[in-house]
Amino acid sequence: MSINWSERIAQRAREMSSSAIRDLLKLTVQPEMISFGGGLPAPELFPSEEIGAACEQAIVEAPGSALQYGPTEGHAPLREMIAGWMHDLGMRVSPAQTLITSGSQQALDMLGKLLIDPGAPIAVESPTYLGALQAWQPYRPELVPLPMDDQGLQVEALAEVLARGVRPRFLYIVSSFQNPTGVTLAPERRQALVELAGRYDLPIIEDDPYGELYYEGTRATPLAALDCQLYGELRHVIYLSTFSKLLTPGLRVGWMIAPTGLIDKLVQVKQGLDLHTGSLAQVAAYLTCRDGLLTRHVPVLREVYGQRRDVMLAALHATMPAGVRWTHPAGGMFLWVTLPDGWDSAELLGRAISHQVAFVPGRTFYPAGDVINTMRLNFSFSPPELIKTGISRLAEVVRSYAPS
Ligand code: PMP
Repeated sequence: MSINWSERIAQRAREMSSSAIRDLLKLTVQPEMISFGGGLPAPELFPSEEIGAACEQAIVEAPGSALQYGPTEGHAPLREMIAGWMHDLGMRVSPAQTLITSGSQQALDMLGKLLIDPGAPIAVESPTYLGALQAWQPYRPELVPLPMDDQGLQVEALAEVLARGVRPRFLYIVSSFQNPTGVTLAPERRQALVELAGRYDLPIIEDDPYGELYYEGTRATPLAALDCQLYGELRHVIYLSTFSKLLTPGLRVGWMIAPTGLIDKLVQVKQGLDLHTGSLAQVAAYLTCRDGLLTRHVPVLREVYGQRRDVMLAALHATMPAGVRWTHPAGGMFLWVTLPDGWDSAELLGRAISHQVAFVPGRTFYPAGDVINTMRLNFSFSPPELIKTGISRLAEVVRSYAPS
């Protein structure tokens, strides 16, 4: 007789769930489908040749690093290079504070394991990155959702929560071109947030995979840099970034910059997860960047994605009926559409899929799951012509939708 596995699942894994939305989105791999659903980079822009050459070079010239077990903290030259970039962004941090992670997703899980006890409050933007909620669900935090507007997190709302005596283990924030809304935290709010963190000893997890992908203006100053400026060292902010959006997500190489007092524990947590991030991927990432690939490649991403964003904004403007609103992200990969009150975007998705266009309904990004009339659209993956066709299909579905 076979084992009934659902009875054997540990309590913490029972908290995990696969969403109905994910199942619906599986349908979007059909060839005629135009999907704005995934959070994918444009595959035709992957620097495949350079990465291939770097892998070969790593194996031929440095097999002792690229093919061997390595330190849990990461490949030393890569850590040094990243610490240098962080310095250039205004962070006073050393390579010893720089840990290589298997994507930022792993960093989120590590931090959940390290900082969340069951029932402990954690403060999150509402809406927020779904992958963080999924990573932390098994640790059973008490989510404290905080409202956002077009300037990002409403820092005043956090101040009120803190003034009421709630002490979150940390605040989680995607500070630039947020996934899912595309919104960026305004400079004055960044300053106010870091001051608040100092007043209440509040740790902040700043997740910043999109900061370099700006299509207008200049790069926003990370909270981690402001923390260093204000307190003379990195004190409150744990900063995450990744090669996923800048080179390719297939490498699974990201980084975490942490205050000194947290490093040893983080290393212990990572040891239990995977000993270390893949050596070959780390050495290849190092070699490509040492040879200047990022400096050449990121401007290309900015140009192509910036153009796709413009095409999507223009198509929305040309086709969507009155009463539908959307954000105007200055960078990143997503924009956020708000339908009239009472409209249910999950219901709309079913119809959209039959019209060969897909998106992610916004509800899943809300910690309380209480907002049903929003949707996330990705603009980095599809070429301009498909974006135009996809938005016109979507607008047709929206126009014909009457809530049941
Ligand atoms: N954080 C955010 C906000 C993201 O959007 C993503 C990727 N979608 C991640 C973390 C995970 O990225 P990685 O590929 O580095 O694990």
